[in-house]
Amino acid sequence: MHCPQCEHTESKVIDSRESPDGVRRRRECLLCRHRFTTYERIHAAPLVIAKSDGRREEFDAGKLFQSVRIACAKRPLETGSLEKLTRDVENELYRLSKVEVESRILGEMVMERLRVLDRVAYIRFASVYRDFDDIDTFVKEAEALQAEETSPKEPSPQLALLPDDVPRLPERRKRTTRRSRTATPK
Ligand SMILES: [Zn+2]
Repeated sequence: MHCPQCEHTESKVIDSRESPDGVRRRRECLLCRHRFTTYERIHAAPLVIAKSDGRREEFDAGKLFQSVRIACAKRPLETGSLEKLTRDVENELYRLSKVEVESRILGEMVMERLRVLDRVAYIRFASVYRDFDDIDTFVKEAEALQAEETSPKEPSPQLALLPDDVPRLPERRKRTTRRSRTATPK
């Protein structure tokens, strides 16, 4: 659980109560003392996300939040809007009442909401997600992109030509190379 303010991983629970979205916890970051709310669910059966390459993985709301946070990095969004988006997607996933949901469906749920929330974040997420169909890979790709973006002191002239600070995106990789990329995690 990362602090939404400073990304520190340790926090203390200052309040906890049941809510329709799960157990609602008020937390305080141990580093910067920022207070934030988390919702933790208790489910009879875990929800499995089926990736397009055939792998299956238990749904992880924390990872989903991380990917949304990366897509929305430096965007002028209201406090709590990313948490709400994550929660809404999670609720919709569980409302499907399925044991297994395709990764593609999860991605569409996120894109649908990002499109309304912030166009740049939507483009960031969609352009990568459409190629990889997988949140883990999205996070890796997006972090690599951000590292490229933040390394030069001056913004590169190429970036300045793009509207609305849309980050440069990796060249679209051929579908055939995806399997080998995702099969060898770092
Ligand atoms: Zn903090």
